[in-house]
Amino acid sequence: MSIKERVKGLLREIPKDVILEAAAKTRTAKEIDEVIEVGIKVIGENYVSELKKVYPDVKNKAKWHFIGSTKTQKHDLLKRKVLEIIDMIETIDNFDFAFELNKKCEDLGKVMLVLIEVNSAKESRKSGVYPENVVELVKKISKLSNIKVTGLMTMGPNVERSEDIRSYFRLTKGLFSDIKSMRIENIDMEFLSMGMSDTYKIAIEEGANIVRIGTAIFGPRRKK
Ligand SMILES: *Cc1c(COP(=O)(O)O)cnc(C)c1O
Repeated sequence: MSIKERVKGLLREIPKDVILEAAAKTRTAKEIDEVIEVGIKVIGENYVSELKKVYPDVKNKAKWHFIGSTKTQKHDLLKRKVLEIIDMIETIDNFDFAFELNKKCEDLGKVMLVLIEVNSAKESRKSGVYPENVVELVKKISKLSNIKVTGLMTMGPNVERSEDIRSYFRLTKGLFSDIKSMRIENIDMEFLSMGMSDTYKIAIEEGANIVRIGTAIFGPRRKK
């Protein structure tokens, strides 16, 4: 099956109110253009270097979400030209980064949409905020004028059977609903980003409205 056929199939399959985000790490501008031509509206990039490489060809034909580490790429990410391009950062997991991001966005006159990344399985080597610390971080970020929290994102642990990830998605959805019901000022709980190629069906069943799919769209990733 071609990339375009895979996208069309996925768009037919997933509910209309769920955003199919194409996770584009290692993919070329040409491949990204192809998925946009058949209806993809959001591209997820993990690396600032790759975003810079493909952006000049793709430009604003889709929205750009950053889904990579804000820790290892902090300095690249906080560059004016990069922040101008990005529509949403899905991987906010600490206040210090949020504070600096807010300052840069103030200079730019931009309000950056962000999601809080939840480390739903509490894996010490992975990014994301532990579930019990999410509410506190959301409340702190709510005071920053040039960042708007619009929901949560989670990766979940690597599992052998896809079904084993369900409880982590459910936990994240619970947190999402709790925060939504708190009606915190300047917080707009709209997006729940969870599920990848092997787990998007389970994620949608558990309430995701953004799924981030790479392999099931583009095929296996090329080795770098
Ligand atoms: C690579 C990646 C995906 C997509 O993974 P696939 O298994 O290829 O669908 C989704 N989210 C993030 C954060 C990723 O890095």
